Amino acid sequence: MDLQVPEQEASFRDEVRTFLEENLTDEIREAGKMVTSVFSPVKEAMDWQRILNDKGWAAPHWPKEFGGTGWSVTQRAIFAEELVRAETPPLIPMGLHMCGPCLIGCGTEEQQKEYLPKILNGDDLWCQGYSEPGSGSDLASLKTFAEKDGDDYIINGTKIWTTYAHHANKMFALVRTRKDGKPQQGITFLLLDMDLPGISIEPIVGLDEVPEQCQVFFDNVRVPQKNRVGEENDGWTVAKYLLTFERGGQEYAPSLHVQLEKIKVMASRQQTVFGSLQDDPVWQYKLAQLEADVLALEFTEMRIKSALSAGKDPGALSSMTKILGTELLQAITELRIETLGAQATIWQPQALVPGDEQPIIGPECALTAMPYYLNSRACSIYGGSNEVQRGIIAKAVLGL
Ligand SMILES: Cc1cc2nc3c(=O)[nH]c(=O)nc-3n(C[C@H](O)[C@H](O)[C@H](O)COP(=O)(O)OP(=O)(O)OC[C@H]3O[C@@H](n4cnc5c(N)ncnc54)[C@H](O)[C@@H]3O)c2cc1C
Repeated sequence: MDLQVPEQEASFRDEVRTFLEENLTDEIREAGKMVTSVFSPVKEAMDWQRILNDKGWAAPHWPKEFGGTGWSVTQRAIFAEELVRAETPPLIPMGLHMCGPCLIGCGTEEQQKEYLPKILNGDDLWCQGYSEPGSGSDLASLKTFAEKDGDDYIINGTKIWTTYAHHANKMFALVRTRKDGKPQQGITFLLLDMDLPGISIEPIVGLDEVPEQCQVFFDNVRVPQKNRVGEENDGWTVAKYLLTFERGGQEYAPSLHVQLEKIKVMASRQQTVFGSLQDDPVWQYKLAQLEADVLALEFTEMRIKSALSAGKDPGALSSMTKILGTELLQAITELRIETLGAQATIWQPQALVPGDEQPIIGPECALTAMPYYLNSRACSIYGGSNEVQRGIIAKAVLGL
């Protein structure tokens, strides 16, 4: 593994830092600090995306000819690290990280021209219509049916856990177009507008009282056939191609390091009957264990970057980082609750709404602790559950 940082990449880090200092508005910074999920408040995330897009930095991972930056893998990693350090709101991934790369790889030229500029500039907000009740891990069993009628498909069925369906104006969806044969061979990938007649949306309120996910119902919804990506009944190929972007290349360590640093500051301000919490040996032991695990994860993520830089496929390492990253995130949110004690139990979700002027009860650092803890219970489920990731490792690495 080559860990050397050439001089030009160090100056690139300075360039990114200067840009962030000059362009992050107070509202966007504030929203970034209050984030309690992998998803940010829509308005602030989209405002931030447009600022990045004006600079040409909204989608560094896209090929240059489609609006990417042409950066090296290391430059992209530096950029991602600096965004985390500056606590910017994470960009909403369904367009930039899923639909966009998928259209670049599998869409027609017409689809690319129509959709990609609007994804980059945040004019369209996409949601992902894959999962259905009873079809999550076993996605190929999905039942939402699309029947051909003239130039259109008519869709009936339902999708569930669709993140931000109630904010999105577009959806990429998997539908069944053939009922016989192998389940994977009867699926088609479609793009559709969320305001079409026959679509209804029911938000699902999470443990943290935030309606992030939805159930979407389709009642005779008409979608033009030209909105199909790939061939009819070959949507599984497109879906799998998209999942490589959803699951691959995500870095957890930079954000986990930032969160551990914050917890240390919180502990320095907490008093127990024996003195400062940061001197408590039991607390120190828990922190040290997490720091060692995050460091180990960081090195694994470096191995992935090193493999990608050398044009190699990191293989099942991305399943490993998904498991470790999400389980460490859950453990860190637990330590944060433990560190704050009773202060973490003051429930004031309204104070997390950007622009809310209500006075905060207790220390500001405690505001996000409980909502983040509750929200992060889901991260070992979405994007392919951790049990499913373990299955991938068992098969691909251990040959079981
Ligand atoms: C917060 C959140 C956001 C989401 N956003 C979206 C979205 O935007 N769009 C979308 O389409 N979907 C979304 N999902 C759905 C997500 O992809 C599914 O929840 C996930 O794939 C698991 O499917 P399931 O919920 O049906 O559980 P199931 O597949 O029924 O699994 C139930 C349990 O069985 C285990 N299990 C299942 N199969 C296996 C196996 N082969 N080996 C070992 N264990 C197994 C699972 O790990 C889990 O613990 C989201 C989910 C969450 C929680």
